[in-house]
Amino acid sequence: MRVAVTGGAGYIGSVVVEALINGGHDVLVIDNLCKGHRDTVPKLARFAQLDLIEQADVVRALRGFKADAVIHMAAFSLVGESVASPGKYYVNNVTAGIALLEAMREANVGRLVLSSTAAVYGEPAKQPIDEDDPTRPTNPYGETKLALEHALRWYAGAHGLSSISLRYFNAAGATATNGERHDPETHLIPLVLQAAAGTLERVTIFGDDYPTRDGTCVRDYIHVEDLADAHVRALGALSEPGICRAYNLGCGGEGYTVKEIIAAARDVTGRDIPTAVVPRRAGDPAVLIAGSSRISRDLGWQSRKSLDDIVTSAWQFMSVRAGAP
Ligand code: UDP
Repeated sequence: MRVAVTGGAGYIGSVVVEALINGGHDVLVIDNLCKGHRDTVPKLARFAQLDLIEQADVVRALRGFKADAVIHMAAFSLVGESVASPGKYYVNNVTAGIALLEAMREANVGRLVLSSTAAVYGEPAKQPIDEDDPTRPTNPYGETKLALEHALRWYAGAHGLSSISLRYFNAAGATATNGERHDPETHLIPLVLQAAAGTLERVTIFGDDYPTRDGTCVRDYIHVEDLADAHVRALGALSEPGICRAYNLGCGGEGYTVKEIIAAARDVTGRDIPTAVVPRRAGDPAVLIAGSSRISRDLGWQSRKSLDDIVTSAWQFMSVRAGAP
């Protein structure tokens, strides 16, 4: 298949591109490089540095590439920033997202896989969370992703667009070549590993007074390679027009607390990891665990990697980039 990947030079995007190329697909990466890194784009993929808001340019790129499908991962994704700057999120995640859907319509591309998020659920009433549970986002990040999911329903009815939205829980880990390179870094696992490497003085734990087994937040961490596998499977399930589905992507089970992640990183690295407890971060639900049985049933997808795989691969990636630890 000929697949255009928006945001394909970002963290998750770069791993999805790797999986597509390994699966024998032709890939066009579309990225404006506001966050992504040009050097992640493999030689076998084409690259177009484009802003999705420039609809005519995107139409030209999709037509020139003869795209069969789009994986749309270009978006802003930080909860705190979205609360502080909602307009930035509406413009990039909704306005540019709709411009992409219009460009796809003009270029006659009828298949889409959308990166969505557990943030569409807000403060969930039960765990694990299922796809039919209420979607009540508590921040503009989740709200803007949900807005695009809703638009897909109307595009399916009006234009026959087929789509699958993948609601990620906590993506983490790395491949041998691609991993997290955010600036500034805000995610727990890379920060914990920076503290292990000595490039960060200490890990700040955002609250230890949650109603959880050790007082810190529980999250469902999923290896980025398992996520990428789900994207490839989702593409294969879009052969008929008018499909519109959403799937959770997590490992389920009990999840891991912030303190358990730090303990796992101490085991993997053999290093001391200094910590300090600070007040809760605004907008953090106590527990987020995915119920992923729907995608297992429909697409045969299963997460295969453990927390140890996640932390070990992220540590190796960081060590290779920094020179030997
Ligand atoms: N967290 C933390 N300290 C940090 C960064 C994150 O305690 O420096 C916690 C955060 O409160 C959440 C979990 O780690 O419970 C995962 O946060 P992250 O930002 O990695 O992902 P999110 O859950 O926001 O998508």
